[in-house]
Amino acid sequence: MGRLDNRVALITGAAMGIGRACAERLASEGAKVVITDIEDHTGQETAAAFRAKGYTANFIQQDVTSEGQWQSVLADIDRLHGRLDILVNNAGIAIRKSIFEMTMDEYQLQNSINLDGVFMGLKYGIPMIAKTEGGSVINLSSVAGLKASPGLSAYAMTKGGVRLLSKSVAKECIAEGIKVRVNSVHPGIIQTAIWDKMGVPTDGENQVDVEQLANNAVPGGLLGKPTDIADGVLFLASDESRYVNGSELVIDHAISA
Ligand code: NAP
Repeated sequence: MGRLDNRVALITGAAMGIGRACAERLASEGAKVVITDIEDHTGQETAAAFRAKGYTANFIQQDVTSEGQWQSVLADIDRLHGRLDILVNNAGIAIRKSIFEMTMDEYQLQNSINLDGVFMGLKYGIPMIAKTEGGSVINLSSVAGLKASPGLSAYAMTKGGVRLLSKSVAKECIAEGIKVRVNSVHPGIIQTAIWDKMGVPTDGENQVDVEQLANNAVPGGLLGKPTDIADGVLFLASDESRYVNGSELVIDHAISA
């Protein structure tokens, strides 16, 4: 018996990184996973790799900034599985620039993925999840949503927004009698491609060395793995967290402590 048998889970931005690890962990406990990502080829490969392990996994290409695509992805899931129980709003980008360096186009792009994408996931996902016996939404925030992050100020703004959006929507669901829990997860420094994308890949001089960064920023210098986050997401997705709602799960090896 898996902890998520008969549940259907949608994980955004799951072609790689934390989203992929979450999808695999949920699938390993019996969930039927639908992974979406803007990256079509990698997403297809990830779903195929999961199916090869015996998991029920589908990939649908999705840009989380598109309202129409949110609606069509949920309609596809309804056709595929007839229900949705778990939504992990994971897709996100990080533009590593101070407020003085960041252009308005970059600012708006980051907001549209990290904030609008999560808003639409909640707005359209919760009514579908509400048709089941009760479900769970997990939004990927960050340690940057809890404390100042110089050099990442606009990113921190989006992640702080995700934190309070999650808490507020959790209470809106309770007020409406909707049995959907909403929580946020706050990773510290986790080894994924997001750090390469944050670097300036010219001559390597300005590139972010994530191990060095962790050495300086994390107590004990310990760099996190995507599976460290996936284990927390599994807890929030499962019935073991039945009484955890409007809460924030910090997985940062004491960065913010
Ligand atoms: P990642 O390795 O870069 O994976 C993110 C995935 O989301 C990529 O496949 C990316 O595609 C995709 N994506 C980007 N824009 C999208 C869009 N508009 N629609 C759908 N998918 C899109 O990042 P990660 O490190 O796993 O991060 C996952 C989440 O955790 C993010 O919300 C991030 O802010 C948060 N987080 C990460 C860390 C960390 O240290 N890694 C720490 C705190 C919080 P592209 O490759 O095309 O961009």
